[in-house]
Amino acid sequence: MPFENYRNSRILVTGGAGFIGSHLCERLLDAGAEVVSADNYFTGSRRNIAHLIANPLFEAVRHDVTFPLYIEVDAIFNLACPASPIHYQRDPVQTTKTSVHGAINMLGLAKRLKARIFQASTSEVYGDPLIHPQTEDYWGNVNPIGIRSCYDEGKRCAETLFFDYWRQHGLPIKVARIFNTYGPRMQPNDGRVVSSFIVQALKGEPITVFGDGGQTRSFCYVDDLVEAIMRLMVTAEDITGPINLGNNSEFTIRELAEKVIKLTGSRSKLEFKPLPQDDPRQRQPDLTKAKAVLNWEPKVALEDGLKETIAYFKHSLEIA
Ligand code: NAD
Ligand code: UDP
Ligand code: UDP
Repeated sequence: MPFENYRNSRILVTGGAGFIGSHLCERLLDAGAEVVSADNYFTGSRRNIAHLIANPLFEAVRHDVTFPLYIEVDAIFNLACPASPIHYQRDPVQTTKTSVHGAINMLGLAKRLKARIFQASTSEVYGDPLIHPQTEDYWGNVNPIGIRSCYDEGKRCAETLFFDYWRQHGLPIKVARIFNTYGPRMQPNDGRVVSSFIVQALKGEPITVFGDGGQTRSFCYVDDLVEAIMRLMVTAEDITGPINLGNNSEFTIRELAEKVIKLTGSRSKLEFKPLPQDDPRQRQPDLTKAKAVLNWEPKVALEDGLKETIAYFKHSLEIA
């Protein structure tokens, strides 16, 4: 069935109670869709979707995507997977299963329904990249046996499955490689750099910079990302991706720490800690393809997005 419009459609979002997933559910409802979130609440939380529960067009199902799911929907957004290193490394076998078995089950579901399916892939498929910025035709530099491999290789295998279902079964797929994204509803304790620095700054604790802080990341505000995901899903059937989504303004981790200190007015000091194994030195998306295909570009500057995120954490730390 062609899928061109969210209005009156029924959409499955796996990982719908997570950080990005909850924003996506919200936007889909705003666009007039009926939304089913399937989540096992491993890293997501019912609090993230509490404001949606009263909406009769929204339904939250507790489900682990490593198990089959039989449901009738028009399109599937597959976001289920822990995304922060401390969470995906806590049970690495489950992380790979979530990416691989989860992809197989959701692709099987999409195949039966002849439904479009979106995959939340990641810049981590590029590993510690040897070209800069990263374009979609770069195959990456990934350690297959390191502590990040459960996530990186799981996501790479999921991409393989998506493209094989596309080639073998003619399934309409949309694969996005998402770069570091931040915003309200990140978990305060997930160890990701933006949430960690903000929480540390607000509590007046030392800001834990790993390594010398010279490594870079390019941070995308969640609203910009969700807009791109929404656009990608309704592109013509021959657009499969992979397509980089993110923000291409690149910052060192030290610069990020300084911005957070300035914007929170914190007296926290930097504390340098060892750089984790296989931590990529540089990361910046080449967004040429996204701009051309989606007529989209990120709009929210880092300082503006940080202000929103700081306000969210201030509020949620007070009520916690
Ligand atoms: P998140 O941890 O907040 O969300 C992931 C959600 O998936 C959570 O609600 C979690 O409970 C759920 N989940 C985990 N395992 C599951 C399973 N087996 N069955 C059902 N649900 C499961 O992370 P996020 O930042 O919102 O990431 C969402 C997706 O985007 C992930 O697939 C992630 O890999 C991808 N991504 C995120 C970023 C980023 O910077 N945030 C970057 C690249 C890719
Ligand atoms: N699957 C599912 N929901 C469906 C259809 C399939 O969860 O509505 C799962 C099912 O567990 C299956 C997997 O998707 O193992 C892959 O399905 P596919 O049809 O590709 O393969 P097969 O069933 O032949 O193994
Ligand atoms: N980082 C840091 N202090 C922290 C958490 C992370 O310096 O408390 C660094 C980390 O080493 C990496 C960057 O910030 O270089 C981004 O880390 P994150 O875990 O947010 O994402 P990823 O490494 O997956 O891009």
